[in-house]
Amino acid sequence: MADPAECTIKVMCRFRPLNSSEVVRGDRYIPKFQGEEDVIIGGKPYMFDRVFQSNTTQEQVYNACAQKIVKDVLEGYNGTIFAYGQTSSGKTHTMEGNLHDTDAMGIIPRIVQDIFNYIYSMDENLEFHIKVSSWEWQTVSKTNLSVHEDKNRVPYVKGCTERFVCSPDEVMDTIDEGKSNRHVAVTNMNEHSSRSHSIFLINVKQENTQTEQKLSGKLYLVDLAGSEKVSKTGAEGSVLDEAKNINKSLSSLGNVISALAEGTAYIPYRDSKMTRILQDSLGGNCRTTIIICCSPSSYNECETKSTLMFGQRAK
Ligand code: ADP
Ligand code: MG
Repeated sequence: MADPAECTIKVMCRFRPLNSSEVVRGDRYIPKFQGEEDVIIGGKPYMFDRVFQSNTTQEQVYNACAQKIVKDVLEGYNGTIFAYGQTSSGKTHTMEGNLHDTDAMGIIPRIVQDIFNYIYSMDENLEFHIKVSSWEWQTVSKTNLSVHEDKNRVPYVKGCTERFVCSPDEVMDTIDEGKSNRHVAVTNMNEHSSRSHSIFLINVKQENTQTEQKLSGKLYLVDLAGSEKVSKTGAEGSVLDEAKNINKSLSSLGNVISALAEGTAYIPYRDSKMTRILQDSLGGNCRTTIIICCSPSSYNECETKSTLMFGQRAK
């Protein structure tokens, strides 16, 4: 493991616009922006590496949050980009967006395009192997996904789909397939996605066939489960267990990231399955970006503040 002090963590914050039902309900638009790094809620300022107002385009978000990481992954570094926030705050819009629309594409399809454009631009002596994997992390494990360690003690997930790909279209097909499989399994997509972490992994291996020099980098793209508190009165049984597990996995992620940000010697990676898996792509000399996604509505003020506080812990 590399020295945690070298770690580069960036925390970005994105506000979506008010949606139509919020407008109809008469909700107020509460964030006040000040420069590119501050947002004020209820008179209190919150600082980030970058704050995106509601009218920020997908391309602007990509350029600020992901472009540099993609360059680094192609140079053999590992990285992780997370989207954190309550359900409906814009996490999936930010990470995936519309996979098939040039303007509305989110970070994942843009990364895939950038990686392939890079490959196409390189000379013939370089051989690339691109592998994508994706899986959903049910926070109460009914599925057979489990964490194993390979002979080098690198954790991996058993039971996820993995595929070598040769073009951006093949990657999009893989994502679409994953989604249609999920549609069969669950009736309410939004309810489902709010209770699971969705993880997409791109592995890039390259070899210079003349010099035999090898490089390998990987990038995790994580659309986290909704961070909202489940009301104590409403939830019972398995729903309550699930809510507790989500809170636990998000808080252990928060603990790892704030330990990394502080440069503490001990990083509690082993406290949750997700942080174990992400260990070699979080901290050390890895590139980490957290995108804090927020609703601008007065109705969600409480959750928005707690989301912003989560982001501040990583600073
Ligand atoms: P989450 O994944 O956090 O639950 P979504 O990404 O699904 O939230 O966003 C909820 C809704 O808001 C979707 O219909 C999405 O298209 C819309 N939305 C989210 N962010 C934006 C944005 N920045 N601009 C326009 N619409 C957005
Ligand atoms: Mg979502």
